[in-house]
Amino acid sequence: MNTARMLLRDDLRDFTGYRSARSESVQGTVWLNANESPFASSGDAEGAMRRYPDPQPQALRDALAALYGVDSAQVLATRGSDEGIDLLLRAFCAPGRGAIVIAPPVFGMYAVCAKLHGVRTIEVPARDSDNGWRCDLDGMAATALSRNAPLVFICNPGNPTGEAIADSGIARLAERLRGRALVVVDAAYAEFADNDASTALLAAHENLVILRTLSKAHALAGARIGSVLAAPELIDMLKRCQAPYPLAQPAVQAALAALAPEAVARTRAATTQLRMERDAFRDGLQRTLGVRRVYPSQGNFLLVRFDDAQAAFDALLAAGVVVRDMRATPGLEDALRVSIGTPEQNRRVLALLTQARVAA
Ligand SMILES: *Cc1c(COP(=O)(O)O)cnc(C)c1O
Repeated sequence: MNTARMLLRDDLRDFTGYRSARSESVQGTVWLNANESPFASSGDAEGAMRRYPDPQPQALRDALAALYGVDSAQVLATRGSDEGIDLLLRAFCAPGRGAIVIAPPVFGMYAVCAKLHGVRTIEVPARDSDNGWRCDLDGMAATALSRNAPLVFICNPGNPTGEAIADSGIARLAERLRGRALVVVDAAYAEFADNDASTALLAAHENLVILRTLSKAHALAGARIGSVLAAPELIDMLKRCQAPYPLAQPAVQAALAALAPEAVARTRAATTQLRMERDAFRDGLQRTLGVRRVYPSQGNFLLVRFDDAQAAFDALLAAGVVVRDMRATPGLEDALRVSIGTPEQNRRVLALLTQARVAA
């Protein structure tokens, strides 16, 4: 039996969600059904924002589907991937019950959404090996099975670990959990990885869900546009749980502009540059005194261990450079995460760290 159908909350089986005025399929020229103003707002000369927005603009779904190499019925556009994470939890875990499986150190939103929904988070820690961090996929599968957890979250490439998991590992995990759990692959950084092909796995694995976002490589964090990619039936279940108008009109416009062919080509070129810059930045950091370890990364950031992370953080901050302090995360008590900036910004970070070390 289809995994999502089996795992959907019993109380949501016949749930249709909110029927907004925009979701009724009627035709007309004078729209008096949604209590909108008949006048344009003063900052909106064209009146483009007077109306409630389309909940799932077809043009946007089509553009996202083309970008990710799937069918548009396999796409749900969301208010950032954060909304996708939340929808999955709410659709497949009854409030106050159930569990999710994660591999810390990992992106914090899975546990935050679980907490808000009263759902337990079960941790199967990733291992820090000579080759970098490694998720224990077998351990995660065994835990999901023994604890009856309907959702397993895999961050690939991993934030903050930088780990890339091979498609074969994801495929095996999905196979093992078929009929028992959904495997959610958060691929927010896929554009920066050597291999960005995991959407091809969707066809063979009905219990696989992939999260993508325009926030990172596409430089649209402010627009809050994410995608859930999955089997059409699962997409439909999530759509029924979504807020009536999740996507603001200006955000949709910005996303469509970023998805025009020339814009996508520019993004791809910029991403290639950034990947090269990342590797050069990593070399530079590895040669910097006081840097203990720089993990290999398939994202647009580097996870760095320092002899004295506090001193490094302070030296950067004193010069106005803000990096992510990871020291509150178990296992990362000496670590900072640095996003890859422009070549000048990266050189500046290297210079500041070297200076701080020389002064010490
Ligand atoms: C940045 C990030 C996201 C993006 O979230 P949005 O809500 O789409 O901005 C998702 N997952 C991970 C792991 C991230 O680091």
